[in-house]
Amino acid sequence: MSFSTEVKNELCRVSMQRACCTRAEVYGALLHASVFSHKEIRLSAENMTVVRRLQALLQRAFFVECEPQKAGRKQQLVLTEPAQIGRVFDALGYDCKSHITYHINRNLLEEDCCIASFLRGAFLMGGTVAGPDKKSHLELKTTHQSLSGEETSLMLDLGLSPKQARRGSAYLLYFKDGASAEDFLTRIGAPHAAMELMQAKVEKNLRNTINRQVNCETANMMKAADASARQIAAIQALIDSRGEDAFPGNLWETVRLRLEYPTDSLSELAQRFDPPISKPGLSHRLKKIIELAEKED
Ligand SMILES: [Zn+2]
Repeated sequence: MSFSTEVKNELCRVSMQRACCTRAEVYGALLHASVFSHKEIRLSAENMTVVRRLQALLQRAFFVECEPQKAGRKQQLVLTEPAQIGRVFDALGYDCKSHITYHINRNLLEEDCCIASFLRGAFLMGGTVAGPDKKSHLELKTTHQSLSGEETSLMLDLGLSPKQARRGSAYLLYFKDGASAEDFLTRIGAPHAAMELMQAKVEKNLRNTINRQVNCETANMMKAADASARQIAAIQALIDSRGEDAFPGNLWETVRLRLEYPTDSLSELAQRFDPPISKPGLSHRLKKIIELAEKED
């Protein structure tokens, strides 16, 4: 199941309690329908849950009964009876005798709850959203420029700022940043889907942070190993040429421990002295040893 389908299934579970919101939701869907005219209304979708939702909305908002019909991979709801279309047009404040204009009747969308419901209906028909495993993208598509513009202002009313674009004959409203897509989904009634997107983002950030830390620690370990190898090579060269006597008393203990524990970090090695010495103290002794060794070269 695609993430868009998952989101739409969640939207279809929003309860249809308020009459104002039920009408607003089906209004949003109708403006994104395949056909919405005074002669015919045709709503089609591949997702049967969406089709059932639209069927129930039509029934509740306009008392219009309509059975889904199969059309290829899609199911559609078709209204052609003038009396039924008349009821829809009346309820939405459109004139039955003239062609529909794609201007939103804002009288039906005075409350924020209704605006959110309208956008839910619009998204059920014309929306898609990328899943948590993909780059963030949510869009709402229509072939009507005026509708796209007016939907932008509806979103602005809810505090959402979509971007606008044109793709062929389609007009798009879209969100590229994750936070806005999550806000939109939460507002229209899909908080679980929004949470899923949010969680994926948090996990990804966490993984990146951990990777960075691991890389950093590996680099530090490599640096320590390099330093140790250099010290051992220098010590070995000096022992080879001059024997143990090359090192004065307190340095010899350092030499012995370094050779015995070549993979120890400075602080580990410092702890092996009896009594333990400080890390800067050890660092100072190792520096002296290397100086001695290099003088010999
Ligand atoms: Zn409402």
